[in-house]
Amino acid sequence: MRRPWQGRQEEASKTTLPAYDPSCYLCPGNTRAQGDRNPEYKGVFVFVNDYSAVKEEQAEYKPEENEGDSVTGKCYVVTFSPSHSLTLADLSPEEIVPIIQTWTGLYITLLSPTSPLVALAAATTPPSQDHVSANLVRPQQQYRYMQIFENKGAAMGCSNPHPHGQIWVTTGLPEEPALEIEQLKKYRRERGGVNLLVDYARLESEKKERVVFENDAFLALCPWWAIWPFEVMIVSKKHKRSLVDLDYDDTRMLAEAIAEVTRRYDNLFETQFPYSMGIHQAPLEGTDEEVEASHFHIHFYPPLLRSATVKKFLVGYELLAEPQRDITPEQAAARLRDCGGELYRKRLD
Ligand SMILES: [Zn+2]
Ligand SMILES: [Zn+2]
Repeated sequence: MRRPWQGRQEEASKTTLPAYDPSCYLCPGNTRAQGDRNPEYKGVFVFVNDYSAVKEEQAEYKPEENEGDSVTGKCYVVTFSPSHSLTLADLSPEEIVPIIQTWTGLYITLLSPTSPLVALAAATTPPSQDHVSANLVRPQQQYRYMQIFENKGAAMGCSNPHPHGQIWVTTGLPEEPALEIEQLKKYRRERGGVNLLVDYARLESEKKERVVFENDAFLALCPWWAIWPFEVMIVSKKHKRSLVDLDYDDTRMLAEAIAEVTRRYDNLFETQFPYSMGIHQAPLEGTDEEVEASHFHIHFYPPLLRSATVKKFLVGYELLAEPQRDITPEQAAARLRDCGGELYRKRLD
């Protein structure tokens, strides 16, 4: 950390965006690439991505010998706010609740009828969404996994600053969640039904040194295995297999944890802090063991190291041998604990 820095210096991302941008394809009332017009939505808005990376029918690539392995899917876009200039860090927990409810609603819509979560899902009434686009009907095909994520900032390759996330559903189980579920299953089998991440959350909650924020339902911490300097995981303290297991209080406390993490990130270097964040949870379609072993959590992977302009690069030894720690997770957690409170931008106004 004391090494003189003569590397790349990036311009801090602008914070002076207009609330409405006539050229933004996500702003209310604007026309999107394929000609669809966004409604004048007031809260959260979901639609099928006009440029889906995975398609319902992947006709281009289908090797004959393993036709069944061809992954197909569907991509959705979820806007977090009608305002072009806001981010999750600007939103209150009350404003984040409808985003979580929208994720939950789509998860329930696409859940396999054979999932052990179905009985609960039937009891969960998703809130009426005023502006869920009409094409959010249950597709013919049953998808295996739902990846909810957000890329924030140009540093993470996000092409539009309008606050939004994505949801990809695929017929296959992607590598990261597949590896996690394997380990969760193993731990559960070996220790008689307990959950690895619930046990881990309890341990961290007792030790406190890697905890960033905590409420009754969730823990935000810098995991000891973190690769990114300010990597954070939000994990449910009680065993929750997926969004369906969250009651209203849990949802409210998750919204609070997301607000706390994103606001602290922006406060840390007084910038629009870039990151990729995403949810890991039970597959839409899985064996009873896979579903029961799953545990709801969110990963935040931010690239910044020590200022708004200095990024960590995973190169050289890190790419070829193993990642190196620039600061310890304990140091990162202490820094993030110390920058709670009001969003720095509000003091500047
Ligand atoms: Zn916009
Ligand atoms: Zn995970």
